[in-house]
Amino acid sequence: MSTAERRVLLVEDDPMHAELIKRAFEDDPAIIITVAHRLDEAIAALRRGLPDMVLADLRLPDGRGIELCQARDYPIVIMTSQGSEADAVEAMRAGALDYIVKSEVMFDDMPHVVDRALREWRLQLAHERANRQLQTQYEIASALATSTTLQEAAPRILESICRCVGWPVGELWRFDESAEVLHRKAFFSLDPALRTLEDVPHRFARGEGLPGRTWEAGQPLSVTYPADAPGERARPALGELGLYCGYGFPVHTSDGRTFALFTFYAPSIHTADVDIERLMSTVSAQLDVFAERQRGEEERRRLQAELVERERLAAVGETAATLAHEIGNPLNSMYMHTQLLQRRLRRMANVDPSITEGVALLLSENLRLGSLLQDFRSLSRRGSLRLAPVDLGRLLEQLLALQQPLLGSSSIEMLRELPPGLPTVVGDEGKLRQVFMNLVKNAIEAMPRGGRLSIIARVEDGRIIVEVTDTGVGIPEGVDVFEPFKTTKAAGTGLGLSVARQVITSLGGSLGCESELGVGTTFRVVLPIGTEADAQLDA
Ligand code: ADP
Ligand code: MG
Repeated sequence: MSTAERRVLLVEDDPMHAELIKRAFEDDPAIIITVAHRLDEAIAALRRGLPDMVLADLRLPDGRGIELCQARDYPIVIMTSQGSEADAVEAMRAGALDYIVKSEVMFDDMPHVVDRALREWRLQLAHERANRQLQTQYEIASALATSTTLQEAAPRILESICRCVGWPVGELWRFDESAEVLHRKAFFSLDPALRTLEDVPHRFARGEGLPGRTWEAGQPLSVTYPADAPGERARPALGELGLYCGYGFPVHTSDGRTFALFTFYAPSIHTADVDIERLMSTVSAQLDVFAERQRGEEERRRLQAELVERERLAAVGETAATLAHEIGNPLNSMYMHTQLLQRRLRRMANVDPSITEGVALLLSENLRLGSLLQDFRSLSRRGSLRLAPVDLGRLLEQLLALQQPLLGSSSIEMLRELPPGLPTVVGDEGKLRQVFMNLVKNAIEAMPRGGRLSIIARVEDGRIIVEVTDTGVGIPEGVDVFEPFKTTKAAGTGLGLSVARQVITSLGGSLGCESELGVGTTFRVVLPIGTEADAQLDA
């Protein structure tokens, strides 16, 4: 059957009229006319298959032609011999596309009537489809506008698409790029009987099943079951549920990355339908805009957090300056007096050892407070740096030599790679020593059962990079060790790293870390190479 063929069901009880109408189409082989003489005959014919249009007499022996208008699955033109206005109105109300009064002239003109009706019907369908699509786009836009995550909006999006195109089941998948798997984030079914599909796999690997295959293809994909989808064995229920077709649609960002995908299942799917492709592309664009907005929102939140962090640091700095002043002096005098006490005690005989111990403790606690105060002072923005060229290689050698005895006692092996003749950086030597001291101390403290500490320096792109690596406990994901007061140590201050980062950043460098829980941690200091001339410029 060629596509140009048009099947017309003619419902006419008058054999004469039927004959005349058929004769009017004699010259047009594309029009295939089937005649039904009664309403029940017409209904039976419609059950066997829908025609392209119906031409029905208003008055039939067993009823009225307009009863055929209800289905609205085909265009229908009503004919009558009388031609009363009331009949016309009734026919049009019932959903007839046109209404004609039978006459010799009219019969001759029948090809035009049919042609006009078919054209009109096509327009109507297109119009309805366009409306439905607009409605769907509107629904999706509303769902996205009132949701904060794609996941939250997904069930409504799926429902809109399913209702628009008449597919009974829809799913949305997101990627877990690192694990190379797809996770189902939302499921929708028009029919409760299809909910059983919700239980079957939530995860698909690349290339596996319709989701995985759509991922691999990177473009819309349609499959029929079971013939061309052996990978679908993961979903054996599909055929049993009468779903013989699947349609996968990847959602791309404007720069071509796939970040989600849809799958739909239906008894049949006509993917050649340009409307569906157009609808899905629009949905894809809508989701991309949404994702873009979300990324913007994330960035905004990150910046805001950074701002809060900076403000907090500044506030700490203010307090630090005052604290250092108010507490620093009395602390100093306490220290001096305790030291004096200790000296006197040494010269005395028969001193109770608990007194000597108590005084030693006073001194060490005093020292600890002093170094906490020192950290506080470093956080203060006002603390000015004394800039001069610093020989990092020498600084590190000295510092590590001091740590050597400590390493031996805690069975930590040290690896040192400090190339000779390392260029200088411009910085405050005291503060830089404090930074590296802190990193080394942290590394040692992270290896209570021993391990390896390595300090490796190298020159790269006009910068010196120093990596302090340990094989210690590691840092849990999501923990920001640079946040002030973040400490896991009983006697820690949690200020070491925030001070260190501040010092390094103020010298135009950066301090970052990489860690794996239970494996170890690397802190990386990057500083620009700088000489006396740079120091003069900075001062
Ligand atoms: P403190 O050492 O006083 O706790 P820091 O700012 O130096 O303060 O470090 C903050 C926290 O970061 C530590 O308490 C620890 O939990 C974590 N940390 C720092 N360095 C390491 C490391 N090398 N390995 C594991 N955790 C570390
Ligand atoms: Mg520390």
